[in-house]
Amino acid sequence: MRFLIFGPPGSGKGTYSSRIEDRINVEHIATGDMFREAVKKDTELGNKVKGYLDKGELVPDDLVNEVVRERLKETGMDNFILDGYPRTVEQAEFLDDIVNIDALILLDVTDEIIIERLSSRRICRECGEVFNKLFNPPEEEGVCDECDGELYQREDDKPKVIKDRIDTYENRSEPVIHYFEGKVPVVVNKCRKADASIEKMVESIIEQLKKRELVS
Ligand code: AMP
Repeated sequence: MRFLIFGPPGSGKGTYSSRIEDRINVEHIATGDMFREAVKKDTELGNKVKGYLDKGELVPDDLVNEVVRERLKETGMDNFILDGYPRTVEQAEFLDDIVNIDALILLDVTDEIIIERLSSRRICRECGEVFNKLFNPPEEEGVCDECDGELYQREDDKPKVIKDRIDTYENRSEPVIHYFEGKVPVVVNKCRKADASIEKMVESIIEQLKKRELVS
């Protein structure tokens, strides 16, 4: 199956898809994670994208498209859940040309939730594990449960940048939903609580995919 998980920053795309991945046997591919990894390793790609990431701006379409095309080839163009891509109509058109998507999972959350969640998010500097002080706190403050690495706040999770990211989502990314509507099933998952249980949300998404016979 070839799924897209779509929603504003802080809607839980990464958290839910990393759990869905194990449940339905698809590979979780997150462009944001790939870029952060490249920045951390100081690669050529990392140097190209760092400025955009720090400011919460979108990386240019041509560059993102090539990175995704190469990554999808590794999956044999099947059995994946794409998180954080496509984020513009141009990217959606590119993707649509190279592969047929089976469904779009849309996470519907309010701006208040986004702000509350993103400002409470902390990431492990070593392994990239994501924690949230609100609903998924580490056992020891500032320390990763998985590898004891130091937790940090993403530059783009700071209040001034969050607002710009929400604007970018509304102006550049929301049109992607309209692009896919009518072409592929859109499975909407509504969340109105910043600290909603991760397990319940994942169950609800999988339940809806089953109901529509998108997974068995
Ligand atoms: P994310 O972890 O999905 O919030 O992505 C973090 C940052 O990576 C974004 O704010 C962008 O700078 C960049 N990024 C990730 N995916 C894309 C994409 N599909 N198009 C453009 N920029 C992206």
